[in-house]
Amino acid sequence: MEGCIFCKIVDNKIPAAKVYEDSKVIGFLDIMPANKGHCLVVPKNHAQTLAEMGDDDLCATIKAAKKVARALSLSFGNGSFNMVMNNGKEAGQIVGHAHIHLIPRFQKDRLRIKWSHLKYGENEINEYADKIKKFI
Ligand code: 5GP
Ligand code: ZN
Repeated sequence: MEGCIFCKIVDNKIPAAKVYEDSKVIGFLDIMPANKGHCLVVPKNHAQTLAEMGDDDLCATIKAAKKVARALSLSFGNGSFNMVMNNGKEAGQIVGHAHIHLIPRFQKDRLRIKWSHLKYGENEINEYADKIKKFI
């Protein structure tokens, strides 16, 4: 994909601190980490979001994420990490090539991944479920 920074990393056109590679996936360190050790796990085939990824690429990517997460925990982590995937502009996706963030967590780190909780009106939760189910 022309102009895609992660495609360039996949093609070795720009450098990255790689920690994992197989035929479908690469994993490398995020250059602006939320915590040190923050990794990105990226399918080699270009797709914008999770919804656009092929099932084979998706399976390979999630399996690779597990391997990288375990390695993070064993190397210098403590087993705690956040797995985050931003899909689309409104969700905060900046790089338009699907990727999973693995962010190691430490006691008293300053990272906050929290949201405030809304409430559904009467029966509204079932209406939402019905609307979604129509498209499954
Ligand atoms: P997003 O907000 O799209 O989910 O996150 C994109 C991530 O990619 C950001 O955390 C950013 O620091 C990282 N990033 C952007 N450009 C590069 C790059 O050229 N190399 C590496 N290693 N990470 C990058
Ligand atoms: Zn790409």
